[in-house]
Amino acid sequence: MLARACGYPYDNEGLDYAIARERMVAEQLVSRGIRDPRVLEVMGRVPRHLFVEEALASRAYSDYPLPIGEKQTISQPYMVALMTEALELEGMERVLEIGTGSGYQTAILADLSAKVYSIERIKSLADRATRLLDQLGYYNVLIKVGDGTLGWKEEAPFDGIMVTAAAPYVPPTLLEQLGEGGRIVIPVGDAYSQILKKITKGKDYLRETSLASCVFVKLVGEQGWNE
Ligand code: SAM
Repeated sequence: MLARACGYPYDNEGLDYAIARERMVAEQLVSRGIRDPRVLEVMGRVPRHLFVEEALASRAYSDYPLPIGEKQTISQPYMVALMTEALELEGMERVLEIGTGSGYQTAILADLSAKVYSIERIKSLADRATRLLDQLGYYNVLIKVGDGTLGWKEEAPFDGIMVTAAAPYVPPTLLEQLGEGGRIVIPVGDAYSQILKKITKGKDYLRETSLASCVFVKLVGEQGWNE
């Protein structure tokens, strides 16, 4: 929210990236059924090329994931949009993200909600994402290093939880930390392929829907995979 108010320091970026983003939104997102105008607007604005190594910047808006170091990846733009849309954010939510990675998805969530709490298990990635998000003026983001399968107890409950790594099952602790009416989006399956699931928590029920098949890196932790 604050980031929007103060304006980004990349207002003078090259026109090429702006065009690449516009094409990404039209050809990869709208054409595949992403409809939420807020999601489309923010993905057309956030400079994804800054979240990858300089050598990969020209491929940042391509239709696939890219390496970000430490054997981890930044997700394909369509997957980021699909997962974000599924959280149904309106602007006032408190969101927990598991797997900060490059910080790109964190930025998207931060532009669409009130506050994002993000957990990353690899310190070097968490440090880099923290620096970049600070530089870009995302003051509504808190990143910590740790095992995200255990959630962030002190800040619970959350209106939305997004897990950006592949889980063998839905971590019970994350379901506990989801508030009533909240949504969790999480890829569940084996190490090679998963189903992206959305679970909505009602007063005394959980409603689960399957959104797509997908492939993510492993969620490593106490309620995830062993290293
Ligand atoms: N959303 C990220 C982005 O936009 O760049 C991509 C995330 S990447 C696909 C998955 C991330 O989850 C990796 O950075 C990995 O280190 C992290 N991860 C895996 N297990 C984790 C855990 N238990 N807690 C926190 N982070 C974890």
